[in-house]
Amino acid sequence: MPKLELNYKELPPCDVLVAGGGSAGVAAAVSAGRAGAKTILIEKSTFLGGMATGALVTPMMKNALDARNILTKGVFLEVCNRLVKAGGGATFQDGNPGWFNPEVYKWVLDEMCLEAKVKLMFENQIVAVEMLHATSLLKRIFFVNKGGFFSIAAKEFIDCTGDGDLIALSGTSHESGEKNHRQAMSLRFMMSGVDLRVLAKWLKENDKKGDSPVHFLDNGDILLSSAYTFEKEWTLKPFFDDALKNKELEKEDAAYFQIFSVPASQGLVAFNCPRITPESKTLDPLNNEDTSWILTHGRQMIKKISNFCKKYLPGFSHSYVCQIAPNIGVRESRRLIGQYVLSADDVLSGKKFEDAIADSNWPIDIHPSRIGEKGQLRHPPKNDYYQIPLRSLLPKENEIKNLIVAGRCLSASFEAQGSARIQANCWAMGEAAGILAAKRIKNSDLSKDTKAERR
Ligand SMILES: Cc1cc2nc3c(=O)[nH]c(=O)nc-3n(C[C@H](O)[C@H](O)[C@H](O)COP(=O)(O)OP(=O)(O)OC[C@H]3O[C@@H](n4cnc5c(N)ncnc54)[C@H](O)[C@@H]3O)c2cc1C
Repeated sequence: MPKLELNYKELPPCDVLVAGGGSAGVAAAVSAGRAGAKTILIEKSTFLGGMATGALVTPMMKNALDARNILTKGVFLEVCNRLVKAGGGATFQDGNPGWFNPEVYKWVLDEMCLEAKVKLMFENQIVAVEMLHATSLLKRIFFVNKGGFFSIAAKEFIDCTGDGDLIALSGTSHESGEKNHRQAMSLRFMMSGVDLRVLAKWLKENDKKGDSPVHFLDNGDILLSSAYTFEKEWTLKPFFDDALKNKELEKEDAAYFQIFSVPASQGLVAFNCPRITPESKTLDPLNNEDTSWILTHGRQMIKKISNFCKKYLPGFSHSYVCQIAPNIGVRESRRLIGQYVLSADDVLSGKKFEDAIADSNWPIDIHPSRIGEKGQLRHPPKNDYYQIPLRSLLPKENEIKNLIVAGRCLSASFEAQGSARIQANCWAMGEAAGILAAKRIKNSDLSKDTKAERR
């Protein structure tokens, strides 16, 4: 094996280094920047948003007790309001403020970071870290771009990579999946040219069970959603029955189908599918053989599903696929094993914590990774919510002292992560992480000043 020589260039250090610019990463960077910390955000893609933009995960799911009592506030609500002002966001009739256009979202997130004086470094993949084991401190991270290898040292690091890359690279305790179970991955896409008025009219006339809500906004836009799975008598079922009988769809294509219109975009529909669930294998988001296969297989599924929509669904006859997500939708991969591991019992009993940083009533929502397996949808108590403690963002103290973890890679059991992973919670976790990182730096600078004065 040839020895890999790594010649790297050291870039100027910062206070807070945020790895990954998804919901959690942007919240962390903006909060640290606003608290006065010199903050750098390193992102491997060409845009911010992570799953929300790169995997086209729109809308954000509702995290609220009712239409008036939204459980996530702070920068999450700020970004929702900014999206509306930018012409790319809307609130659904159930009070969910998280309907958005992913392309508008990209520049709204840029603006928030730049205003908070966060240095954005796109197209950089973090590939290694340097640990100071004697002090349990992370010293610097190494990353690669077209210009070569680089490193940056920081006082505090926040792992918002979703996949827990800093956790893994620093040797911090983590796990992924549960036994042979994983969350299914999806390759989402969008279709344009849909006549939403025709679709909305048909859904209004035919939805007898309330599975396909339609909301007409004052500006004339239509927000709507509909779905189909094998488990229920959905409004769209007759179309799927026909397409399956005619072999235009296979079982895997029809196992999970969900659509949402996109605010401020005429005729645009976002698909929360296809869900990639082969019979023979549990796919691993950290295995490149698996993810490469998912991309080609997923695109074939999109071909079939979009043809089905054009042929069968009202309003879709002139529609076309306008975007296939550049990134695979990964619901779960590495999870920190930190100072507190949030459990399914915590979610289902509505547990509260003294060090709470997020409130949520989203259910444990597990998408089976193999066709034929059963998923889970288990709710916290009615009219109640559970909390995520700050300790679920912190590695064990003897392992690493200056790393905080936020987003879907938090310290939670496989089941609890199935609830905590929604975007609103990732925003709340990132915000808490950014504030804590800036505070720890201020406190340590203060204690250095005090020591100097005493001398
Ligand atoms: C198919 C699917 C459907 C979902 N449906 C919903 C839904 O309807 N509503 C909802 O609210 N939530 C939903 N979720 C969950 C939610 O979208 C995600 O859990 C959430 O967006 C994760 O945010 P995050 O910031 O933790 O991570 P991510 O959004 O994954 O962000 C991680 C960022 O880190 C970057 N990164 C990763 N590794 C590196 C590296 N080594 N170096 C540099 N950068 C790196 C990535 O490029 C990315 O930008 C869904 C998820 C999926 C996959």
